[in-house]
Amino acid sequence: MKVAGETVAGAELAGERIVTFDACVIGTGAGGAPVAAELAAAGLRVAMLEEGAWHDADDFSARPRDMAPRLYRDGGQSVTIGDPPIVLPTGRGVGGTTLINSGTCFRTPAHVLERWREDDGLSALTEEELAPVFDDVEATIGVAEVPADLAGENAAIVRRGAERLGLSGGYLRRNARGCVGSGVCAFGCPAGAKQHTGVTFVPRAWEHGAVLFTDATVRDLVRRGDRVTEVVASTSAGGTLRVRADVFVVACGTIGTPLLLRRNGLGTASGQLGRNLSIHPASAVRARMDHEVRMWEGVPQSYYVDAYAADGIMLEGIAAPPDQAAMATPRAGAVLRDLMLDVRRSASFGVMVTDEGRGAVHSVLGRPVLRYDLHPGDAARFQRGFAHLAEIFFAAGAREVIVPVSGLPALRDRDVEPLLRARVRPRDLKLMAFHPLGTARAGADPERSVVDGDLRVHGLANLFVADGSVVPSSPGVNPQLTIMALATRAARLIAARG
Ligand SMILES: Cc1cc2nc3c(=O)[nH]c(=O)nc-3n(C[C@H](O)[C@H](O)[C@H](O)COP(=O)(O)OP(=O)(O)OC[C@H]3O[C@@H](n4cnc5c(N)ncnc54)[C@H](O)[C@@H]3O)c2cc1C
Ligand code: SF4
Repeated sequence: MKVAGETVAGAELAGERIVTFDACVIGTGAGGAPVAAELAAAGLRVAMLEEGAWHDADDFSARPRDMAPRLYRDGGQSVTIGDPPIVLPTGRGVGGTTLINSGTCFRTPAHVLERWREDDGLSALTEEELAPVFDDVEATIGVAEVPADLAGENAAIVRRGAERLGLSGGYLRRNARGCVGSGVCAFGCPAGAKQHTGVTFVPRAWEHGAVLFTDATVRDLVRRGDRVTEVVASTSAGGTLRVRADVFVVACGTIGTPLLLRRNGLGTASGQLGRNLSIHPASAVRARMDHEVRMWEGVPQSYYVDAYAADGIMLEGIAAPPDQAAMATPRAGAVLRDLMLDVRRSASFGVMVTDEGRGAVHSVLGRPVLRYDLHPGDAARFQRGFAHLAEIFFAAGAREVIVPVSGLPALRDRDVEPLLRARVRPRDLKLMAFHPLGTARAGADPERSVVDGDLRVHGLANLFVADGSVVPSSPGVNPQLTIMALATRAARLIAARG
C-alpha cells in the first residue's frame, strides 16, 4: 500500500511551520494510531506526528540485514544495562513496533484486569467494559487464528510434543490478512499481510481528515498552567514544526514517552515516571530433529503452550531465517558451526516469563539508558520453562536440545536433569525482550502513578498518554491488543467529553 492520505514528510520540511488542530497525537504505534483514528472519527481535526518514516511493503526485501537498520530504532540493537544485558528492540516508522512485530494477539487476561483493579485502582477496567473495545480493535486489524497449513513444521513439532504430554495450547490469533507464511514478520511483511497500525488505524484516521507528519521528532511540549498548548518537533530536514491543539496525546512507547515527559518536566510529581519497567523477558530453546524442519518456513509465531501460564511461563513460537538463527544461537566456535550446518533439522521455540523484577528508563545526553536486573525468581522461572520445553521437544522426538544457559552441554536421551540440577544465575542466561511496559503507569493514586484510569496525566487538563508505558504490569501475554484497547477506550472518553 502506498501512502494513502494527507501526509507531510518531515524529510522535506525545512524552515518553520506552525499548524493548528483540535488534537495532536505523538507516535503512530499500537497506542497512538488507534487514538488518532478514534478522535478523527469523532469529528476532531487530528495531527499525527511520527519520528520515523512511512515504509511501503513493496520496499521490504525480506532480508533481515537490510531491513533491521531501516525499521528498528538503533538497528534493533538497543540493550538494557544490568544482569544480564538484554537486547530490547523497538520499531521506528509509521506503525511503530507493530510494523515489525510478530502479529500475535491476546486479550488482557481476566486475572490481570482484576489485579489492576485491586492494586492500581483501575476500577473501570472490567472484562465487560473492554469486551466491545477488543471486538472493534480486532475487527479493524483482522485478528484470526493461524491456519494449520501456515503454522509450519516448527510449530507442528511442539504441538505433537505438547499433545503427547497432555499440555494445553493452540494456534495463535494474529492480525494478518492474506498471510502466505513467508516467515519474516519481524523484518516488515513483504506480502503486506500483517495488519500493523500504519495500514489499519492510520488510514482510518486519514479517512476522517487527519494529517500525518512523518520524520518529525517531538522534543518540547509547551505548558501554560495546567494545559499543554503546543508541541515542537524537529524534522529530519532540519526544520521546526509547531503544532497547536486543544488535546495532546503522547504515544512514543515505553522508552520514548517517559523521556519526552521528563525532558519537559511533565508527569514527574509522583517520582514514578520512567520507573516500574517490566519487559516480559524471553529466550529460545533449540532442538535437533532427525527430519527437515526448515523453521523459517511458515508463520514464525504460530503456536503456543499455556500449560504453565499460572507460573508466569508462556511458551510461544519463535523462529528465524538462518542468518538470524546463527546470531541468536547461544553457542560459539565449532559447536555453532556444527549446529548451523544442521540448521535445516533445527527447531526453535520461545519461553517468556512474566517478570517480578522492575527496571527504569533514564536519559544520558538525550539518549535512553535502560537499567534492568533480572530477578532471581525470574531466572528460576526460565530454568523451569526451558525444562518444560525440553520435555516437549523430547516427546516430539528431538535428538538433542540446546538450552540458552551458559556452560550447560546439550541435553540428550530425554534427560532434563542436568538442566534442573544446574545453578542458573541471571548472568548465565541469554535473553531478549520485546514487551517493555509500565514507565508511565496508570493508577488511581497520583502518588503511585503517572496517569489516571482515563490515561490523563495527573494534574494536567489536556495531556494524555496512550501506549505501553501506561500498562501497570506485564499481562503475561503479548501486549499489543491490550495497548490498542486501552488507547481506544481513552480516545472514546476524550471524544465524549468534547
Ligand atoms: C520483534 C518484536 C515482536 C513483537 N511481537 C509482538 C506480538 O506478536 N504481539 C504483541 O502483542 N506484541 C508484540 N511486540 C510488542 C508490540 O509490538 C509493542 O508492545 C507495541 O507496539 C508497543 O506499542 P506502543 O504504542 O507503546 O509503542 P510503539 O508501537 O513502539 O510506537 C511508538 C511510536 O512513537 C514514535 N516516537 C517515539 N518517540 C517519538 C517522538 N519524540 N516524536 C515522534 N514520534 C516518536 C516511534 O517512532 C514509534 O513509531 C513485539 C515487539 C517486537 C520488538
Ligand atoms: S508470515 Fe505472514 S504476516 Fe509474517 S511476514 Fe510472512 S506473510 Fe507477512
